Amino acid sequence: KISDELQAMLDAHELLRKFYHHLLVNTKEGQHALEYLLGRGFTHESIEKFQIGYSLNSWDFVYKFLTKRDFSPEWMEKAGLIIKREKDGTYFDRFRDRIMFPIFNRNGNTIAFSGRTLGADEPKYLNSPETAIFNKSKILYNYNLAKPSIKKSQQAVLFEGFADVISADRAGIENGIATMGTSLTDDHIALLRTSAQTITICYDSDKAGIEAAFRAGNHLNDAGFQIKVALMPDGMDPDEYIKKNSPEKFRGEVIGASLTWMAFKILYFRRGKNLQNEGDRLAYIEQIVKEISKLTKAVEKDHYLRQIAAEFSLSLDSLKQQEQQIYFAEK
Ligand code: ATP
Ligand code: MN
Ligand code: MN
Ligand code: MN
Repeated sequence: KISDELQAMLDAHELLRKFYHHLLVNTKEGQHALEYLLGRGFTHESIEKFQIGYSLNSWDFVYKFLTKRDFSPEWMEKAGLIIKREKDGTYFDRFRDRIMFPIFNRNGNTIAFSGRTLGADEPKYLNSPETAIFNKSKILYNYNLAKPSIKKSQQAVLFEGFADVISADRAGIENGIATMGTSLTDDHIALLRTSAQTITICYDSDKAGIEAAFRAGNHLNDAGFQIKVALMPDGMDPDEYIKKNSPEKFRGEVIGASLTWMAFKILYFRRGKNLQNEGDRLAYIEQIVKEISKLTKAVEKDHYLRQIAAEFSLSLDSLKQQEQQIYFAEK
């Protein structure tokens, strides 16, 4: 049995999730937020499924809403829902005039929120702080809904943002998850290990996203997962791609055309290099041969060594020799 304080935190989140959702879908105050979401391509169905809501443009709506229902302000502050003013000890609402994405734990309890601004305010996404019920390094967004589909396929698709998970779901990808704006932790990996063998990384195809995909991929690779990397053109993110193209194209030409981890690394190490330049070319070849030496399957090694040999008109024998040298040196 959990303490009264934890129970009150959970109850308050549950109540607010319902109320934020009601404000978004049924009220005049939430109309601009609903229009914003529909304008971005979110559907009523997604808004229901993900229980998206809206927090009023008020400094004390949540404070009053909760205290009227006998929730202790001290506990609600610890739950991250209201914030105490240093100067006079009064409270104000953390989330104001934002699109509210509830964050669920594995049991489907609402344990936190992330609020997106409708305008250009910073931060774009405001998360609940770490609390007794919310630890963002352990939570994967949408894991509760995605789990059956992940288990069934033994695959998960890892996105950067909430909007990406939701748009992908609309496009028929139901095994999508995202971190809470952080990098992938050991706890996330432990959670994924219980349900998937293959992870498709589908981060934003901008510089930050590609760097993050490289880091997440290495982390997952070390943990023994099979990895694929899905890329989009022109620095787009999955949500933008789906809106601009179509669910079919996303499934076929992005997810369906995912690169193997090695093929992604080949692209990754090429970026910013001028392969016409001899120094760059040799550095690149050495880098890739080093990566090939980490592969465990002889057939894969052979495949990629041949690819390099053909591309740079090198003898396969010399590449194999170099691969073996690196392999034994690294051992
Ligand atoms: P949108 O499509 O709504 O503009 P996005 O998901 O494309 O959002 P990105 O800038 O690509 O936004 O960021 C990816 C993720 O990183 C977000 O979904 C969010 O979880 C997190 N994030 C982004 N900006 C912030 C921020 N200022 N503070 C905290 N988390 C953030
Ligand atoms: Mn991004
Ligand atoms: Mn993005
Ligand atoms: Mn986006």
